[in-house]
Amino acid sequence: MIELIDRLSDNEILTKEELIRLIDNRSAETAEYLFERARRARHKFYDNKVYIRGLIELTNYCKNDCFYCGIRKSNTAADRYRLDKEQILECCRTGYSLGFRTFVLQGGEDGYYNDTVLIDIISSIRALYPDCAITLSLGERSYDSYLAYFRAGADRYLLRHETANPEHYKRLHPPSLSLKNRKRCLYNLKEIGYQVGTGFMVGSPYQTGEHLAEDLLFIRELQPQMVGIGPYIPHKDTPFAHHKAGTLELTLFMVGLLRLILPNALIPATTALGTIDPKGRELGILAGANVVMPNLSPVSVRNKYSLYDNKICTGDEAAECRVCLEKRINSIGYRIVVDRGDFIEK
Ligand code: SAH
Repeated sequence: MIELIDRLSDNEILTKEELIRLIDNRSAETAEYLFERARRARHKFYDNKVYIRGLIELTNYCKNDCFYCGIRKSNTAADRYRLDKEQILECCRTGYSLGFRTFVLQGGEDGYYNDTVLIDIISSIRALYPDCAITLSLGERSYDSYLAYFRAGADRYLLRHETANPEHYKRLHPPSLSLKNRKRCLYNLKEIGYQVGTGFMVGSPYQTGEHLAEDLLFIRELQPQMVGIGPYIPHKDTPFAHHKAGTLELTLFMVGLLRLILPNALIPATTALGTIDPKGRELGILAGANVVMPNLSPVSVRNKYSLYDNKICTGDEAAECRVCLEKRINSIGYRIVVDRGDFIEK
C-alpha cells in the first residue's frame, strides 16, 4: 500500500486495479501515511492557507428527482423557497464585509432562474464586487446558457458528476438524467473557460470500491480545478431514507487520494463532512483539503435547503459561522485568508 501511495505522490499514474486495491485494503496506518503525503503536496502549492467561499442557497425548487436528494421534485414535505435578486445581493453584502471574496450561488434546477433572471443577478454582483469570484452551482444547462453566464461575469462552476459509473448513475437517478449529459456539461464548462469543479458522494447507495476508482480516473481525465466530495447522508423523505450514510473514514481517505492525484486542486472540506462528525471539516483539511464553504444564506431559509438530514449551521448567522470556522481552522495550525483563492497552475 505504501508503495502505491509513494507512486501516486510521485505523480505516477496508477491503474484502475491498483486504485481499487488501495481503496479496498486501506487501514488506519496507510491512511495516516496518505494524509501526511497529501498535506505535503497541498503545502507545496497552498501552504497552510484555507480559502473560504460564501455559499448562497438560491432555491430549493428543483425539477429533478434524484433519489438521494432532499429537495427532489417528488418530496412534497419540502417547504419551498427562492431568493430574489435583492436578497441575494444582501447576502453578498454581508459576505463581503466578513471577508468573503468568492460567492457561490447554488440551488435546485429551478425554472424561475431563466437566463434573463440569472444574467441580471450575475452582472449585478459582478458590477458591485469586481474583486470577487462568482461561482455557480445550478445544475445542467445548455452550452449557450453557460456561455451567457460566463460573459455576464461568472468565473467558476461546480457540477459534481456524482458517480463515474453509468450503471451506478442509473441507480441513483431517474431515467431523465444521464451520466453522459452530466459529463457533456462538464466538458462544455471547461471549453467556455470556467474554472470547473466536479465531485461525488462517498458511500452512496450501491457504491463499490471499483466505482470510487472510476471516479478518480474520471477526475484525472477531466482535470478539474476543484473537486468537492462528501459522505452520502440519508434524507428522511427520499427513496433512499433507509440507506446507510457514508463514513468519515472513507471520505477522508478519498480526500487524501484526490490531493495526490490533483496536487494543486481546490478541495473543500464539505458541510456534509462536518455533519457526520463534529470535527469532520478539520479532519478534511488535515487529509489534504484547502477550502471551506460556510453558509451565507438568510437564516430564515437555511433549514429549508435540506439535501440530507441534520445539516449543521442551519441556525447560525453568517457572522457566527465565520468566527466559529476561524477558530476551528486556527486550532489545527491553518489560517483563513481573505482572497479570491483562484486555482494555482502547476
Ligand atoms: N442542482 C445542483 C446542486 C446540487 S446540490 C446540481 O445539480 O449540481 C449539491 C450536491 O449535494 C450534489 O451534487 C450532491 O452530490 C450533494 N447531495 C445531494 N443529496 C445529498 C445527500 N443526501 N447526501 C450527501 N450529499 C448530497
